[in-house]
Amino acid sequence: MSQISDFDAVEHFWCPMLGQTINFAYCRQAQEGLPCNRVLTCFAPHFDVDAFIQEHYTPEQREQFLAPPPSRMDRVMEALEKNVKPAPEDES
Ligand code: SF4
Repeated sequence: MSQISDFDAVEHFWCPMLGQTINFAYCRQAQEGLPCNRVLTCFAPHFDVDAFIQEHYTPEQREQFLAPPPSRMDRVMEALEKNVKPAPEDES
């Protein structure tokens, strides 16, 4: 059984989100303490990241952090829904 920090020093040569070299210590905590949703793709060439994820995260956690991020349109719609107040009810 591996420790959660065993691969922390492994570097991915180029993070497409940050535009720099990054190590696994960051990537495994990138989403509010859970791994980045791209972690399987980025780290597959470096070690058996799939086995690591299976070992250290519950199915519910995996479902949560491996889900694709909301699209730009989803984020816009969510922001609009939060900021639009419902019209007052017609009292006639
Ligand atoms: S796993 Fe996420 S944070 Fe890490 S290198 Fe890939 S895209 Fe960047």
